[in-house]
Amino acid sequence: MSAAPVPLSAGSTQPPCAVHDVALLDLDGVVYVGPDAVPGVPRALAAARTAGMRLGFVTNNAARTPEEVAGHLTALEVPATAEDVITSSQAAATVVLQRFGAGARVLPVGGPGVTAALRAAGLTVVHRAEDRPLAVVQGYGRDVGWVELAEAVVAVRDGAEHVATNADATVPSPRGPLPGNGALVGVVSAVTGRRPLVTGKPDPAMHAECVRRTGARRPLVVGDRLDTDVEGSRRAGAASLLVLTGVTDAAVLLAAGPQQRPDLLAPDAGGLLTRHPRVVPEGASWRCGSWTGRSRGEELQLAQDRAAATDHGDGLDGLRALCVAHWAGSPGAAAPVRVLAADEAAAAALRAWGLPS
Ligand SMILES: [Mg+2]
Repeated sequence: MSAAPVPLSAGSTQPPCAVHDVALLDLDGVVYVGPDAVPGVPRALAAARTAGMRLGFVTNNAARTPEEVAGHLTALEVPATAEDVITSSQAAATVVLQRFGAGARVLPVGGPGVTAALRAAGLTVVHRAEDRPLAVVQGYGRDVGWVELAEAVVAVRDGAEHVATNADATVPSPRGPLPGNGALVGVVSAVTGRRPLVTGKPDPAMHAECVRRTGARRPLVVGDRLDTDVEGSRRAGAASLLVLTGVTDAAVLLAAGPQQRPDLLAPDAGGLLTRHPRVVPEGASWRCGSWTGRSRGEELQLAQDRAAATDHGDGLDGLRALCVAHWAGSPGAAAPVRVLAADEAAAAALRAWGLPS
């Protein structure tokens, strides 16, 4: 029996939009960052649709309703209906409904999307711990403050189940990562000492629901986070494409654990439209285009051979070679202690990816 191939090494001889029938797209950091579309992505998604790929939108951001998210997407020239969107608020509402039944009292903490999803599922929304909620559902909301967090603490201490729509510590923004729902969930759990039940990605329920709705036979998860999108895709049994337009940078990717290593890598969601190069073993090294990566203990070395094969053209061949070289020798999650450049081109590439050499 041969071992499973190292993630990223197989590439794709066809563009993913020709191989996969449905893209399960994360939103923050993939389609948009803050209010604005990632440049070029609406056009790329339109081209993927033209090539026959269908799109589903799966977001851990619980703040808005599917209708609001679909409206935002459509305004960014990514036409979508509410049925195309699955939020982690919906996933949390489904879990609470299954546990406590229709009409159960629930205290929401978060944006309007949390309350709307609970009501849509037939649950009873209350706002005070004295109303004896059976669950507190906590999702991202820009206006969440001390008063709501305190109410959640009292309710959970009185026996309510603490349900978190997701545990993402950060949300991407044009100013860099900012506090995400996981950070505020941590405030409540730090006071109550109770671990929350997390219902969003990487729990596979949302991806599974999107597969069910779309009838996908060969879905591809497209995301910017390793611990939610990529790990969620693994748990759902789907392939994954990591894009670098959100919170993951080269250093985070290199340190990824086995469950968080993506199948494909691209600068942005335009990677749906391009072929992906293979990374092949070459002696003690791994080669991608003109780049080779070599792992020596805790040291990782990148080199470029200008006379060698031409590059794939998205500027990430060297990073692919480094990742595969490192992961092939690291069964667990561990960042290389040192990343070294063998030549000036490699040094420039490491600088461009923010990797200190
Ligand atoms: Mg994201």
